[in-house]
Amino acid sequence: MMTEDFTKLPIGSVVSQSRTIVRCSVCRRRGALDVRLRRCVHLEGSEISADGMIVEPIDSCAPVVLGELGAFGSLRPSFG
Ligand SMILES: [Zn+2]
Repeated sequence: MMTEDFTKLPIGSVVSQSRTIVRCSVCRRRGALDVRLRRCVHLEGSEISADGMIVEPIDSCAPVVLGELGAFGSLRPSFG
């Protein structure tokens, strides 16, 4: 299995059409905020199978209401 570690990427990077690197408000690490999954994905695995490429989040959080996205970096300043 191939893994991709989004915690290593700089905040603001766009990794695909629906994903941007943000700081997770739950665990404070960086991750790819996936608009469709509504999760912040930190570590993702992909595998080639007979049905094609399977991609699954290995480590992710469901941190925010998407409407609060603009305040993401400063959300919950007292957290942690
Ligand atoms: Zn997180």
